[in-house]
Amino acid sequence: MKLCMIGTGYVGLVSGVCFSDLGNDVICVDKDKRKINGLKKGIIPIYEPGLKELVLKNYNNKRLKFSTDLEDSIKKSDVIFLCVGTPTKKNGNGADLSQIFSAAKEISKSINKFKIIITKSTVPVTTGDEIEKILSKKVKKNKFSVVSNPEFLREGEAIRDFVYPDRVVIGSNDKKSKMILKNLYAPLISKGAKFISTNRRASELIKYAANAFLATKITFINEIANLCEKTNIDVEDISIGIGLDKRIGSRFLRAGPAYGGSCFPKDTKAIITTADKFRTDLSVIKSVIKSNSLRSKLLLKKISEILNQRIKNKKICFLGVTFKANTDDMRDSSSLEMIPYLSKNGAKIKYYDPTGIKKEFDKIKNVSFSKSISYAVKDSDLVILHTEWNDFKSINFKKLSTSKNLKIYDMRNIFSPDKIKAQGFKYFGIGR
Ligand code: NAD
Repeated sequence: MKLCMIGTGYVGLVSGVCFSDLGNDVICVDKDKRKINGLKKGIIPIYEPGLKELVLKNYNNKRLKFSTDLEDSIKKSDVIFLCVGTPTKKNGNGADLSQIFSAAKEISKSINKFKIIITKSTVPVTTGDEIEKILSKKVKKNKFSVVSNPEFLREGEAIRDFVYPDRVVIGSNDKKSKMILKNLYAPLISKGAKFISTNRRASELIKYAANAFLATKITFINEIANLCEKTNIDVEDISIGIGLDKRIGSRFLRAGPAYGGSCFPKDTKAIITTADKFRTDLSVIKSVIKSNSLRSKLLLKKISEILNQRIKNKKICFLGVTFKANTDDMRDSSSLEMIPYLSKNGAKIKYYDPTGIKKEFDKIKNVSFSKSISYAVKDSDLVILHTEWNDFKSINFKKLSTSKNLKIYDMRNIFSPDKIKAQGFKYFGIGR
């Protein structure tokens, strides 16, 4: 099949390259010329394990192309995926759909034969209806079909998630388009992915409901962790104890910092805005957002307690600053709230992240990037394990630290408290 991905970010690039690997001809389009020129030279704009190899393989065999020419790419394709960003509006909590609508306008100018236009971006209920209206202004209704096909991949596991999804959701009232897409996904369905066919609005809501539910699970265990800290219980025991119940499930049940990333914060806010539009009160999700927004403040209060209320001039090391491991994505990472706060209160901060220096901290006083774990840890008073990269799991603090009074705040509970204590250091975890 001839496919066009509009937007070559985490979702457009990963799904585009995976579709090409399944034998389709794919053009990944982006308006960012630097990104596209880089990709043509084999420069991958994001950190995602396995992505570079797959891009090079499919670019070299010419099934995968990169372009900034939207009009030409649309004309050459039968199926067009919208993979542009849907961030939170600058003034408000709803999804900013300007990228979606401007791409839809561009598409409407270039439809030369029947096209299926698919929202792979996460879009609020009724967005498909709006896209249909935009297209109808320029194109006859029998020349296009607007379908919803939300993407569930996780950064850091994106290729695996795309190739082995739990389910493929297609939302459309048009049988012909559904069959074409079922055919496109047939190689994944034959490997065990469930195919779910709904109307368009249901498919749009499935994505938001899924993200809101996962955000709720994380927030739930984070609050239970707060109780564990007060009652001398290890929250890890609770995660295992309830997670083994098949009705609950163990995933997304690890206590830690506030959830962040490019999806949960914006999608929980957007579903509330949609519900408000339809005069429905999503009180559970509202309380999740509130709890999560207070979480970084709670952990900062704990940091202050660990340092005996003396943050000024303390040398603090952050291990990992991205919102989770195996990605370079900084969007809504809790480190973006914690590091500026600690800097403002006089701490001297070094951070190490396997994906390198972050421009987000360029202008923050007394914050520097360390090129190695050992340099970051060396003379610190407090090490904060912020992101659970494998690189950090077997650090020997005794070898690296020059301070006898080093304190370790393990925000992901990856270290054994007993082992750290045996090395002579003070250990603090989450909910333990
Ligand atoms: P991103 O910001 O990484 O990429 C979006 C790309 O679209 C950018 O490169 C931008 O330049 C390009 N773009 C915008 N308007 C364009 C236009 N008119 N023509 C061509 N290119 C255009 O975004 P992302 O993280 O890939 O997310 C895309 C969508 O997928 C969002 O709705 C997001 O919620 C959803 N989603 C993201 C993930 C994830 O893990 N990142 C997972 C599932 C779903």
